Amino acid sequence: MKTVYGPVASWRLGKSLGVDLICSPKKICSFDCIYCQLEKTEKITTKRDKFVSIDKLREELKNAIEHTTPDVITFSGMGEPTLANNMNEAIETIRELTSMPLAILTNSSLIYDKNVQKTLRNLDIIVAKLDAPNKELFQKINHPAEKITFEKTLSGIKSMRKKFHGKFALQIMFINENKNYANELAELTSEIETDEIQINTPLRPCAALPLTKKELDNIEKSFIGLNTISVYHSTKPMTDPLDKIELFKRRRMEL
Ligand code: SF4
Repeated sequence: MKTVYGPVASWRLGKSLGVDLICSPKKICSFDCIYCQLEKTEKITTKRDKFVSIDKLREELKNAIEHTTPDVITFSGMGEPTLANNMNEAIETIRELTSMPLAILTNSSLIYDKNVQKTLRNLDIIVAKLDAPNKELFQKINHPAEKITFEKTLSGIKSMRKKFHGKFALQIMFINENKNYANELAELTSEIETDEIQINTPLRPCAALPLTKKELDNIEKSFIGLNTISVYHSTKPMTDPLDKIELFKRRRMEL
């Protein structure tokens, strides 16, 4: 599998060149969300590791940026990107090669960790997941690894937000399980003082049904006064992926 893929048309980030530091045919994640568009997480883990070499990243990125100009380079991929313990080195390498903004889509599970926070501070955009306003729903929706608790995740998000000077967005996936908790989630997001709230529902095939446009519009009303974007009202840019076969293999990834 390639470490650099796309650019993909992302409804929240524009033309996004993906960097996958996990790059495993089987998802490696600290969650097993009920709406995941990848297969079930076989081994839920919080163990950070090196999955991809920096030489591979450098070579693929050099080639990619010679042939395409994305809006942003985004750490995402076949699982939770912060599980890659060489992300800091990866950021330094990308910065040497390009001045494009650097983003991450993270499930927030390791954001409490001081080393992870130190690394994430070197990015321009953090998009952090928060699907539940309490521990019961957190367990039910995200099925986290044993060591990950709702309290630890929420306090990690809050402390990261305070330390981060770039754009800090929260992504909330609304499904049947949390659709009646929009007010509680709006209260939490307002406490976090996030720059943007991304209101999402799973539109790609997965085990959970998407909410309708009307349901998501009603949910958005709970966030009144806050800066929201919604998947049903966003437009995607046109993109011309460098490797269409690679993208096809990854077509069910969350972007
Ligand atoms: S949706 Fe993201 S965080 Fe959740 S299990 Fe899938 S890859 Fe992991």
